[in-house]
Amino acid sequence: MLIGGKSVEAQSGKRIERGSPGHSGAIVGSWPQASADDVCLAIGAAREAFDVGPWPRLSGAERSAILYRIAELIEARVEDLAIAECLEVGKPIAQARGEIGYCADMWRYAAGQARALEGQAHNAIGDDRLGLVLREAVGVVGIITPWNFPFIIASERVPWSIGVGCTVVLKPSELTSGTSVMMAEIARDAGLPDGVFNVVTGYGDPAGQTLAEDPGTDMVAFTGSVRVGTRIGEIAARQVKRVGLELGGKGPQVVFADADLDAAADGIAYGVYHNAGQCCISGSRLIVHEDIRDELLARVIDISRKVTFGDPLNETTKIGAMISRAHLDKVDGYVKSGRDAGAEVMIGGNAEAADGLYYAPTVFTGVRPDMAIAREEIFGPVLSTIGFRTADEAVALANDSEYGLSASVWSRDLENAMQTIRRVRAGRCWVNSVIDGTPELPIGGYKKSGVGRELGRYGFDEYSQFKGIHVTFGAPPRWFTG
Ligand code: NAD
Repeated sequence: MLIGGKSVEAQSGKRIERGSPGHSGAIVGSWPQASADDVCLAIGAAREAFDVGPWPRLSGAERSAILYRIAELIEARVEDLAIAECLEVGKPIAQARGEIGYCADMWRYAAGQARALEGQAHNAIGDDRLGLVLREAVGVVGIITPWNFPFIIASERVPWSIGVGCTVVLKPSELTSGTSVMMAEIARDAGLPDGVFNVVTGYGDPAGQTLAEDPGTDMVAFTGSVRVGTRIGEIAARQVKRVGLELGGKGPQVVFADADLDAAADGIAYGVYHNAGQCCISGSRLIVHEDIRDELLARVIDISRKVTFGDPLNETTKIGAMISRAHLDKVDGYVKSGRDAGAEVMIGGNAEAADGLYYAPTVFTGVRPDMAIAREEIFGPVLSTIGFRTADEAVALANDSEYGLSASVWSRDLENAMQTIRRVRAGRCWVNSVIDGTPELPIGGYKKSGVGRELGRYGFDEYSQFKGIHVTFGAPPRWFTG
């Protein structure tokens, strides 16, 4: 772990080991198992770095220079980081490399913005008054991340929060902590002052829970399941603490009859199989016009048959391993429930025997909107297909979900595509693409998918306090005239 700039063990000496899900569980990671006391030490280091350290008081230009150096060092270590992420998560090495490169770009974007973070001045509130709005850092932020995109999700939050002047304690998933520790080491090597970015490794309870509960954190930014996110929200509410929640999704992919079917089929397959479907923004619900349903499905099934899946270290692998046996069984349970409910498996629907935890690309058709496979987040390579006839019906189906994280619309008629996506209640949307991303655009959820926004200029507001200052010139009118 990294606390106050030092690499430390847990006080108990206990460790957590990680077996590669793609390689019969060969041990590929070992990290300290933090107790609540260890986490309190990290919060103390972050508190000191915020309350007395130089970081929040540095100029934006000085903070920016360090964030740029971190981006450079991430790029210099792409291969190490990608291999660690590939082995711990089970994701394909080529994908992991691309993700780390994208993360360097996020750090670079945040570095650029870090010296352009402004407040406001109100010069039209009267001749004797001037209003100022100062942007300040929220304070110490506890960041809790899941296992599916450890480096990306940390890179969507850490540079934005420290870019404003906050200090951070990051708790990655106990399954995939390696690259988060490496990120903090890189930041230290880049000259980030001690205590600004601490990483504790350990289980959700007690390590994550302490970050939420301890009065030493001013904010908790949680990414993960609705179940745990709800609990974090309750803790934050009791303490009136700032909270950000990025939770689950059940992304619709609406395909109109005039769509480019080749591009759409490729996008549907990518949208649901990327990261073995373990992606909060997966396009896991295919909502397709009845006139093209069979033709589109035939193309998606053809891709599903040919796509390379298996060993994540293989350079050509597109779909790697599932994160754990328990999770693979959960995905398989959903597939069984879909079959039992009367939906038809067109391809896949089974685990694949190999030296890892692999699940075959799976396509369901004949899915009714009330089935569990249409409503719940499966978090696996499983596509649920529902047909529609009119645009109103497509929008109603897309919005028929307790989630609202992401959505895609496929149509050659840009007006139709735009009018449709405007009516879909989701925070991250695509027209004629899927799972696209850039640091400039905000991400975040509607409905049960979460609270708050990351990335873009909005991501800095998430970690900012805004202070209004009323300045009076001359002698103000007297309140007491007696
Ligand atoms: P999870 O909720 O089980 O765990 C997420 C993190 O919370 C982990 O670090 C875990 O250790 C920690 N945690 C567990 N119990 C805790 C507690 N009591 N107090 C504090 N922290 C606790 O989720 P997961 O299984 O790691 O990830 C899968 C889920 O994450 C899916 O639902 C997925 O949709 C969601 N997700 C959302 C986004 C997004 O940006 N919206 C991104 C990735 C994943």
